[in-house]
Formats: sequence, structure tokens, C-alpha cells
Amino acid sequence: MFMAVESTLPTPFRTPASDKDAKALQFIEEMTKNVDSVQERVLREILSRNAETEYLKRFILNGATDRETFKSRIPVVTYEDIQPEIQRIANGDKSPIFSAHPISEFLTSSGTSAGERKLMPTIHEELDRRQLLYSLLMPVMNLYVPGLDKGKGLYFLFVKAETKTPGGLLARPVLTSYYNSDHFKTRPYDPFNVYTSPNEAILCVDSFQSMYAQMLCGLIMRNEVLRVGAVFASGLLRAIHFLQNNWKQLAHDIATGTLNPKITDAPVRECMRKILKPNPELAQFVTMECYEENWECIIKRIWPRTKYLDVIVTGAMAQYIPTLEYYSGGLPMACTMYASSECYFGLNLNPMCKPSEVTYTIMPNMAYFEFLPHGSSTSCLVDLADVEVGKEYELILTTYAGLCRYRVGDILRVTGFHNAAPQFRFIRRKNVLLSIESDKTDEAELQNAIENASLLLKEFNTSVVEYTSYADTKQIPGHYVIYWELLVKDSANAPTDDVLNRCCLQIEEPLNSVYRQSRVADNSTGPLEIRVVENGTFEELMDYAISRGASINQYEVPRCVSFTPIMELLNSRVVSKHFSPDLPHWTPECRR
Ligand code: AMP
Repeated sequence: MFMAVESTLPTPFRTPASDKDAKALQFIEEMTKNVDSVQERVLREILSRNAETEYLKRFILNGATDRETFKSRIPVVTYEDIQPEIQRIANGDKSPIFSAHPISEFLTSSGTSAGERKLMPTIHEELDRRQLLYSLLMPVMNLYVPGLDKGKGLYFLFVKAETKTPGGLLARPVLTSYYNSDHFKTRPYDPFNVYTSPNEAILCVDSFQSMYAQMLCGLIMRNEVLRVGAVFASGLLRAIHFLQNNWKQLAHDIATGTLNPKITDAPVRECMRKILKPNPELAQFVTMECYEENWECIIKRIWPRTKYLDVIVTGAMAQYIPTLEYYSGGLPMACTMYASSECYFGLNLNPMCKPSEVTYTIMPNMAYFEFLPHGSSTSCLVDLADVEVGKEYELILTTYAGLCRYRVGDILRVTGFHNAAPQFRFIRRKNVLLSIESDKTDEAELQNAIENASLLLKEFNTSVVEYTSYADTKQIPGHYVIYWELLVKDSANAPTDDVLNRCCLQIEEPLNSVYRQSRVADNSTGPLEIRVVENGTFEELMDYAISRGASINQYEVPRCVSFTPIMELLNSRVVSKHFSPDLPHWTPECRR
């Protein structure tokens, strides 16, 4: 029998789908009702277990585990502040620096420091905490969408390259770590959470082979698919683009029951051998649907039972909403969770809401959370239970793995409460100018990259007068566009097409490793483009801003643009377009 649960979730279906779901919902209720006491306990646990670590001893906590002492002695830090200690751990120092528990591996964040992914130390038991958060997602979803046990989820999930630090610790993205864990690989059967993709396909590091096998399975099981997803919106669009490029071969495989010889990974071949059987009728269907020019609604056409898309479309991913609406014929988009390499934060308790209304409820058992009111000094931090509706805050974390009062860099706005737990809208990541996928390029990086490329123009007596940028995601994959206004002093010796193409590559080379990895290994970002604009264009841009109320004295050229009238102005002044002729350098190893 199902347990009766007093759920305060504002849902149309209040009955949990199973006993297991009832327990998960009960847990959410307990956590959200007792936010402050749970937070107090979490801080006590973290400080007492890590009392003898080098970091806490440095601030003379003397075993204190209360909030007041903690807040008065421990500084708020950024990654750069703790990088020397991180580097020591990476180099093999096994002494308890941040955590009494051994560091099991590093999780490589998509946030970068000096061009390289940040290394986040983690401990083995954090996997249990991540697993716990995952285990809450379907029970909430089942309240809104009944019958998800009557089919499967087509999820495009990928692992990325792993490296080892000089001291021998693994360094890899958090999802790569999770998919490779027993928590994921040997998960018990759950009828509400069955994937079409076999583990072998998800765990194949070659992104083409992995995607090919996952798409093939999705097509073969098309009538069983009830939800289609990827972690981020950009990943799902990449899958659709992949189908556009590879449907002929996929249909051939389905028709003949033979696997594309480009799939060479032995475990993938072995598992596909069991799944792939000749099915000319299905092959014909795939051909008919994909042959057409018009790909509108393709998701619904190929997977007609799909009830929703499961993808994050908040934050930087919001730019993909219109394209996803086009391909899915307006299916609901569920953003289920909010997480990072440092810590998994929380979940969306109303996952079928509109993307613009998504809020995340931080689970107080995951870490100790503090909030810096946006624009205030670090002496004014507020506790999770004390944030105020309507205000914006920067998220500060203290984790079981030993990060203490660490600035994540995310800006969140409080929109309301579920029980005593605040609900947050993701506003933005600090200092991010351009982003196509998980790459985050800031203004200083772009400036440096532009300066690097301008060196090529010197011998042509040419300089960059002004520039701005744009993340073009109209096509898949998206790419960076740089608008350049040039001062050519000697028109007889102006930079050639070839030089300007090479300038594109020169801009890409110094960009951070996440950007270069997405260009080289993941193919999720296209070649960078320079659009040279007519002389005087940036002055027109200033005139336009002033006509809309900007002050002449304080006017600064926007280094990234997306506002339609400005885009139209820039695009109408383009005199030539240039693309990066090659891939920038990238290897999984850090450059440091
Ligand atoms: P990483 O450190 O590479 O794991 O990336 C984590 C970051 O991705 C977070 O700090 C956020 O900036 C962003 N992120 C994660 N989940 C979401 C979400 N649901 N909505 C918007 N941004 C998110």
C-alpha cells in the first residue's frame, strides 16, 4: 500500500506513484520544513569532522562548530585564494588540508581559472549525496506526469576525457564521475527510470560513437519513448543535428541489422548486437521523416509518445528555447535540478512550469549555504533560512569535501518559499560574456584574445578600433561572432582574407580550455567568425545607445550584444565575414 503523505506540493496529482516515491516526498517535506535546523546540523558535522584539517586550524576555530564563531573567523574565498592548497593536493599531498576524509578525485568545473578548468576536490561519500538528490527527481515528476513507468526515457548522456593530476588523482567532470560510478552503472531497476541508452553507449568516450549508438537505440525503441532529454538544452540540439547529419547511415543500419563500421568500441558493438535487428519498416519510417527539408516538430514525429523534454533551459541555456520549441512542437521543457561540480544544490518542485518560471529549492542537507546580497561586502552574509523574497544573492558554499565559504559565482533571486525553504530563480553566472555550451568566456579573456589576434594585423599597418561579440546559436553547433571595426592605414596593403581567417584562430587559441575542448573534442562549438564592419559603425552604436538614454560621458562599448536592433545595425554594416580555418590546440592535460 502507498504511504499517505501530507504533501504540500502544489500539484494536480497529489498521490505518490509508489511507496518509494512517498518516502522521497516525505524527505523533501522534512528538509524544507526544517531548513534552519538542518543547516545548523550540517555545519556542525562539517566543522567537527574537519576540525583537525590544516585549513580550519589555520583560522583557530579550536573545535568550535557554531555559526557565529565560523562566520567571524573563516574568510569568504574564491578559487584563486585556495588554489595553492588545491595544487598541493593535485601534486600528491595526502595530508588533511581541507578534509579529514581522503580526496577521492578532482571534479573539473566548466568555470576556469587562468584558462584551465577549476579542480574541485571531492570525497567518496559525496556520490551518495548526489545520488540522493537524483533519487528525488522522479518522485516529484511522477506527481505531475502520470504513467512514466509505461515506457522509457531517451536521454543523451556523455562522458568526457579523464586525466590524472601529477599526484595521480583522477580529474574529470562531475557527470563523467557519476556515470562511471557503481551508483549509476549498477543502479537497481526502477520502472519509472528506464533509459533507452545502454550503459556501454553512455560510457564510450568517443563522442561520435556514443551519440551514434544512443541515437540508434532511441530510433529502435521509438514507440517506447515517453521523455527525451539531455543535461543541457545545447546537448539535445546537438543530438538533433547529429540525426540530421547521420540519418541515412542510421536508417541503413536499421534496415540491414548491421552496425556502422565506424563504431569500433567493442563494448558498444557487443551491446548493439543484441539490440539491432533488421527492421526495414522502421528504416523506411526514419527515411521518410528525415528526408524532408522541414524538421519542425521532428521530436514529436519520431517519438510520438513524448510527454516532455528533460533539459536545463535556465541561465545561459535560455537562448535555445525557441529552437527547442521548433523541433519539439512546443513540448513542455522540464528543468529538474540545479547542481555544480562543487556541490549538487537542489531541485525544481514544479518541473512542468514554463522555463521563465523555473525556481530551484535548495536542499539544506547538501552543504552549508550562505548568501551574499548582490553588491554587498562579504561581511553581510545571510543564512539560507533568512534570505528575502525579491532580493538577489551570490551563492556561498561550505561543503563536506572541505570548501569553506566558497564563492560559486552564481547569482540567484528569491521568488518565494516552499515550507521554510526559499526558492531561487537562476539569474546569471558572474563575469560571463559569451557561452555556447558549458564554455564561459569573460571580458578579460576576450580582450586578451583580441589583442593576440591584432598582432597579425601589425605588418599590414592595421589596428582594431573597436569590437564586440555575439553568441550565435541560430545554427547547431553555435559559434562565437566577433564584430571588428578596423583602421587600415594603407589600403594598398590591407590584410587579406587569409590573414583575417587566421585572426579568427588567433582569437580562439588563448581562450579557455573548456572553449577549446568544445571545439576540438566535443564538436559542440563551431569555428569562430569575425565580421568586419564599416568604419563609423561603433559610433553609430553609441548614437543609438544615447538616443535610448545612455549618458555620453559614461558610455562604454558593450563587449557582447544580443539586443535585436543593435544586431540589425551591426549586421547591416558588415563588409566581410571570416571563419577560423582550423581547430585550436587542445589536449585533456592542463597547460599549467
Ligand atoms: P560546473 O561547475 O561545470 O559543474 O557547472 C555548474 C554551473 O552550471 C553552476 O554553477 C551554474 O552556473 C550552471 N548551472 C547548473 N545547473 C543549472 C541550472 N539548472 N540552471 C542554470 N544554470 C545552471
